[in-house]
Amino acid sequence: MVVTGNALEAHELYRFYHAGDDETFALRGVSLEVGEGETVAVVGPSGSGKSTLLACLAGLDDPDGGYVVVAGHRITRRPEAVRSWIRARSIGILLQFANLLEHLSVLDNVRAAQSLVGSRDRPDPHRLLEDVGLAHRARARPSTLSGGEAARAGLAVALANDPAIVLADEPTGEVDHDTESQLLQMLRSRAERGSSVVVVTHSDRVAAAADRVLQLSDGRLADG
Ligand code: ADP
Repeated sequence: MVVTGNALEAHELYRFYHAGDDETFALRGVSLEVGEGETVAVVGPSGSGKSTLLACLAGLDDPDGGYVVVAGHRITRRPEAVRSWIRARSIGILLQFANLLEHLSVLDNVRAAQSLVGSRDRPDPHRLLEDVGLAHRARARPSTLSGGEAARAGLAVALANDPAIVLADEPTGEVDHDTESQLLQMLRSRAERGSSVVVVTHSDRVAAAADRVLQLSDGRLADG
């Protein structure tokens, strides 16, 4: 790992949810910095705030307090158009499910992600599919993919714009051991090429492969 600067910073994030009289404190002052080329795993029990944190880092959700800086741009409390611009250019998002648009082929899913940015020096979509071992499934519809193939296709979409930051929420939650190894290897090689990777996980293997493990508990990061 060569850490050269912070690609991602979160400052004192707070997130509360209200349902009737009930109040849930999902994040209670979470700060973190992730360097370029660094892989950070976020672990913690169910309900500890991991997905909420990732959504705030991605600008998919706005914290009630605090802010997030992505590749030098504040993404928090910006108009949606600005947030999506920052997200499309700088962040690749990989979820456990629902990474793909059902009505598009695997290849067109990658192209659709690239069309959001329109940069000329984006990666070749065929090459991306080769890298994740899916060249032969380029024309397939998402519904015909196996679980492992869908996870790898999701990764190709996440990497479509050569993102500085990859945010992954339980990417290996539903895949077999071999696919987990492949996804891990691909995330590691992204980090070696300078991307920052934040991965929410329950997997000991994924956590063991990270440079740093952050423990969330009741919306707070453990010290250390
Ligand atoms: P984790 O990913 O660690 O399982 P979450 O971030 O999903 O945790 O949830 C943290 C807490 O916030 C939980 O108590 C959860 O029930 C609550 N929560 C998450 N999203 C919402 C929501 N949209 N509305 C109300 N409560 C929510």
